[in-house]
Amino acid sequence: MVTRALDVVLLGPPGAGKGTQAKRLAATFNLLHISTGDLLREEVGKGSELGQQAASYMQKGELVPDDLVAKMLVTRLHSQQGLAGCVFDGYPRTRAQAELLDGLLAELGRRVDVAVYLEVPDDEVVARLGGRRSCPSCGAVYHLRTQPPARDGVCDVCGSQLVVREDDKEEVIRQRLAVYRTHTEPLLELYGGRGVLARVPGQGTPEEVFLRLADAVRGGRER
Ligand code: AMP
Repeated sequence: MVTRALDVVLLGPPGAGKGTQAKRLAATFNLLHISTGDLLREEVGKGSELGQQAASYMQKGELVPDDLVAKMLVTRLHSQQGLAGCVFDGYPRTRAQAELLDGLLAELGRRVDVAVYLEVPDDEVVARLGGRRSCPSCGAVYHLRTQPPARDGVCDVCGSQLVVREDDKEEVIRQRLAVYRTHTEPLLELYGGRGVLARVPGQGTPEEVFLRLADAVRGGRER
């Protein structure tokens, strides 16, 4: 039996828990996790030309220009065949990016099957991101209050020293939220108009949120 690919877009403000949930959705549904934020941080870490160009936008909480992000996206999208589709985390963030994604998926005979909006109020976003600690080596994410590492300041997975991401500082968080409201929130209308949008409350334990998300994704597969 040939099953159709499943492509999921995960929308939501910074700090909604997209990264954590996207990894789990990818593992559960056998999808390729594509996080443009992670890909950009990798490039910054390597000190590549792309990373150097992207870093100043990221530090200010602004969007990296579309053409830089698009190159990475295309490489990643074609990097692993044989998986059942993708979960896009942090992409698209603008209408132009949504159009590009439609075009790329159409070339592969695919489309956005479900766009899940993880809803979290602004104050909660600031509280969550302020307590976030990230591993610069393996990308694992912790939270001082809700998901602390076993040993203070040390990654459970790889033992590296945890850090506060430059863009998790409060003034940058406010800027990222403003960018999100202006550029990314209009995508809710776009996907809503196509009948592929599912709204999922982002509050509760990660497990509770995951179960809601998984239901929404299954709904997308059945459509
Ligand atoms: P994230 O980890 O998804 O919150 O992304 C961190 C930062 O990377 C954002 O604040 C942007 O500066 C940049 N970034 C990530 N994804 C994109 C995208 N699709 N378009 C433009 N900039 C992006």
